[in-house]
Amino acid sequence: RAKNLGGNRWVYYDHADDERRLAAQRLRGELERALKQKEFILYWQPIIDLQTAQCVAVEALIRWQHPERGLLLPASFMDIAEKSPAMQRIGTWVIQAACQQANTWAAAGFPLDIQINLSARQIENHRLCEELRDNLNRCPALSADQICLELVERIALRDLRKTARLISDCQSLGVRFALDDFGTGPAALQYLLELGCNQIKIDHSFIIPLSQSPRHQNMVLAMVQMANALGVSVTAEGIEDENTQGLVKDAGADRAQGYHLARPMPAEELTEFMRQKIAS
Ligand code: C2E
Ligand code: MG
Ligand code: MG
Ligand code: MG
Repeated sequence: RAKNLGGNRWVYYDHADDERRLAAQRLRGELERALKQKEFILYWQPIIDLQTAQCVAVEALIRWQHPERGLLLPASFMDIAEKSPAMQRIGTWVIQAACQQANTWAAAGFPLDIQINLSARQIENHRLCEELRDNLNRCPALSADQICLELVERIALRDLRKTARLISDCQSLGVRFALDDFGTGPAALQYLLELGCNQIKIDHSFIIPLSQSPRHQNMVLAMVQMANALGVSVTAEGIEDENTQGLVKDAGADRAQGYHLARPMPAEELTEFMRQKIAS
């Protein structure tokens, strides 16, 4: 088959496109089942304080334990999820599961700060503050200032004023905010100025080339100075080796996260990781 693009231009019908569309459709249906059958799980990646080298926080990263396809990373389903009505409930589940886990850790003597990624749908949901309050009520060992919500620039873009208001409402509960993948969006500086976030996470695309590129080093230094001038703390993402860890520390970053420090892991493994850290 072919489709007519007007005039005398004919293009062969793209079957790969068709397959992609079908796969997306199937995935959208499966999201509902995944929620019901509790197929989503959280992995946790440590974030360290560069001064003390201690793990001071953990980021919750969603995984899908798919019955046929195995453990799926967000890259293989979050784009489609974001466009589906199920995303609202997935986001609600992430917050709830993350708070519960942090409460368990706190009750067991590991009071870890947690970082939770927000989706666009959660920013548009005016119930976010209430959801946080409900979760805090259900989690007596967890306090609001242990929670940091991460948002990416493309999310905030939709309505800057509204996003700023939502952030300040949640901040009045004690919850903090981070700008994730900082530097990759089209309006990074405007967001830094107007959203009142507490933290930036410099995207790994700036960090990975550091040891090879003085220009990247200068850029990271400038980002740190800018954040410092605004009273915003800095986490460097994507630390893949010792040398890079040294470079971000020298640039003045507060915290670091990356495969060199620790990979994302299931909660039980993280508990073991913390036990060993404390023992040594
Ligand atoms: P992100 O929030 O920027 O998370 C960091 C991502 O970088 C994670 O990928 C992590 O595994 C990966 N990473 C960690 N250390 C390194 C490193 O040293 N080098 C490199 N190259 N990568 C590293 P992951 O878990 O596949 O998540 C990808 C993205 O999916 C996240 O990026 C976040 O935007 C989104 N995401 C994950 N969980 C959730 C969630 O619960 N809700 C929402 N809305 N989005 C989520
Ligand atoms: Mg993140
Ligand atoms: Mg990031
Ligand atoms: Mg990212």
